[in-house]
Amino acid sequence: MSGLHLKGISKSFGGTRAVEPTDLTFAEGELTALLGPSGCGKTTLLRMIAGLEAPSTGSILLSGRNITELPAHKRKFGMVFQSFALFPHLTVRDNVAYSLAISGTPRGDAARKADELLDLVQLGGFGDRRIGELSGGQRQRVAIARALAQEPDVFLLDEPMSALDAKLREEMQVELRLLQQRLGITTIVVTHDQREAMTMADSIVVMSNGRVEQMGSPQDIYHRPENAFVADFIGKANFFDGIVRSDGIDVGGAMLTAPAEYLKGSPVRVAIRPERACLDTEPGPNRVAANVTFVRDLGPVREYHLKTDLGPVIVEYALGEGELALKAGDTCEVRLPPDALHVFPADPPAMAAE
Ligand code: ATP
Repeated sequence: MSGLHLKGISKSFGGTRAVEPTDLTFAEGELTALLGPSGCGKTTLLRMIAGLEAPSTGSILLSGRNITELPAHKRKFGMVFQSFALFPHLTVRDNVAYSLAISGTPRGDAARKADELLDLVQLGGFGDRRIGELSGGQRQRVAIARALAQEPDVFLLDEPMSALDAKLREEMQVELRLLQQRLGITTIVVTHDQREAMTMADSIVVMSNGRVEQMGSPQDIYHRPENAFVADFIGKANFFDGIVRSDGIDVGGAMLTAPAEYLKGSPVRVAIRPERACLDTEPGPNRVAANVTFVRDLGPVREYHLKTDLGPVIVEYALGEGELALKAGDTCEVRLPPDALHVFPADPPAMAAE
């Protein structure tokens, strides 16, 4: 059994349950992103995997070996945290060589290995600089090189890009992903940024309130969300609350044809991505009269905000995908193709009331 397995792992702090009992498998050599809003338990889960937090229940298996009780320093896991925590008084090379030196590697060998790792993260030639003489992105690469120095079995990163500006963050996401693929190292990245998760990950674990809502490939998570939380958190979605009837879903008196397999009378939430809703003249089910309330150009896409009997609807077209002359104040029809609709059970009343 290769890879990393969590079995019934949970964590409570006093009366607060930070992570509900969770089973997860992190496939060997893959990059998995733990994604979710602030406070959903991502960091706590990562810290349990790292051995920095003792689980309240459950076990952690690495290639079949139970490592739940193994202290962090014996896990051979590389870690990079939000604040890179580099040693400012040491050179770049000595920062990377530090863990090798304290584990007894002769100084010359440690320095050579550090230089190889600096080459790997494209910092060859920076070994003699002080940390204070580096940019944010360069510091982040030093932190990655340092974490890789011990040839870790598993690489753990907690919001590793959060200190970087948006453009550099995107570049580093691609670089980190290419490096991880080249090394084939099992990697887990905590992030609250869905673009970051989608850029880098083989698999995304979407969490909320200490629970795993869905685990799947970026494509799965985006195109086949399993519940309304995932549909809402990943990408944009239009939502309509309705009741299942024999001839469709009743949304405030308007009937929608949708692939619903729910009992008649059940309350449901219907979701559609803005790019799957259409402002065309094609015949078909789910054509609804609309008033255009607002149009905005976002560069590569244009958004049409509509008022309909179903509620507000946003439709998105990629630039050049069809030049629509619609403007605020116009009337039109919006078409919601049934195969583009996701139907979920309605939120429990407690959540709906929030
Ligand atoms: P963020 O993105 O803001 O870092 P997160 O998803 O990583 O959030 P965690 O840091 O894992 O969330 O926290 C999950 C929950 O556990 C939160 O309600 C938090 O307040 C609580 N928590 C975390 N660490 C402790 C602690 N040491 N003592 C008490 N409560 C804690």
